[in-house]
Amino acid sequence: MICLGIESTAHTFSVGIINGDKIIANVRDMYVPEKGGINPLDAKEHHVKLKEKILDRALADAKIQIEDVELFAYSAGPGLPPCLKVGAQFAEEIAKNKPLMAVNHGVAHIEIGKLMCGCNDPIAVYVSGGNTQVIGYASGRYRVFGETQDIPIGNAIDVFIRETYGKDKKAETFGGPAMEKLAEGSKYIELPYVVKGMDLSFTGITTAAIQKWSKASHEMRPTILRDLCFSFQETCYAMLTEVTERALAHTSKNEVLLVGGVAASKRFREMIEIMCQEREAKAYTCPIEYSGDNGVNIAWTGLLMHRAGVKPIKKVDYNSLWRTDQAEIKWMK
Ligand code: AMP
Ligand code: MG
Repeated sequence: MICLGIESTAHTFSVGIINGDKIIANVRDMYVPEKGGINPLDAKEHHVKLKEKILDRALADAKIQIEDVELFAYSAGPGLPPCLKVGAQFAEEIAKNKPLMAVNHGVAHIEIGKLMCGCNDPIAVYVSGGNTQVIGYASGRYRVFGETQDIPIGNAIDVFIRETYGKDKKAETFGGPAMEKLAEGSKYIELPYVVKGMDLSFTGITTAAIQKWSKASHEMRPTILRDLCFSFQETCYAMLTEVTERALAHTSKNEVLLVGGVAASKRFREMIEIMCQEREAKAYTCPIEYSGDNGVNIAWTGLLMHRAGVKPIKKVDYNSLWRTDQAEIKWMK
């Protein structure tokens, strides 16, 4: 069965097409603000401008016509309302009378990770610019065992890098890769380690790290920045590994799956792998190409829903606050 998925929840507009579990197209374009964070209306404009082009390219890559698509799916939340609306309306417009599935974005990240890595019932660690959740399946839902109480981990990293290393640089760059390169310092600088029960907080560490850098003399800043990047990674990834280990222990699961942009971090993967080895669990990381936002995630999850007998929607809608644990999961036992 050919399924076409549309992703538009935040910065990325993407169309992915699958035929069964074979990926036949994955075209995406990301809106990158010139300065500061994402302005939802600018992101929306980006999506409106590119949606037709991206659809055409995806159909060309898949070597099919729109009429060949048997099932449509779109990311219905969570996300930025203006961006969600573009995706929902576009899905309705191109699906016409064909069945259409409303997919939860967080669930789609987990499902594509499971497909890519061949794992079945993992504790999923969803770490991105917009999300930080430690999730596991139980009784019909992906339950959130732990999550950030304030900003997501990727956002914390990006803010720290922007306010220090990126201060006099014009282009807005993502913080993760820069932090990874800079984190060759060797001195551990004490930073707030905030785990409350199963939840995490990243604003304290971000503020503290920025302050420590600001207070350093100009000569000392490059050195202290390296030490801070090293310490930031050690602290945040240890916090996340602690919560993940507890989720594994409580659920007696034996797989961990990292999804989302921050899963690209070599140090984080290393920490998770060591913890898993010690517990005789297996660690998996979703391949980078599918760990960020993309339409294939949505198409695959739409197909799983269809196969599990979920009824197509009658009227398109979106919910900017639709949590991962509010979506019904009919295809897991
Ligand atoms: P996403 O929101 O899933 O598109 O992922 C984007 C986030 O992943 C941004 O906050 C990046 O800084 C972060 N990121 C990308 N590469 C890395 C890396 N190597 N280490 C840590 N974070 C990363
Ligand atoms: Mg995402």
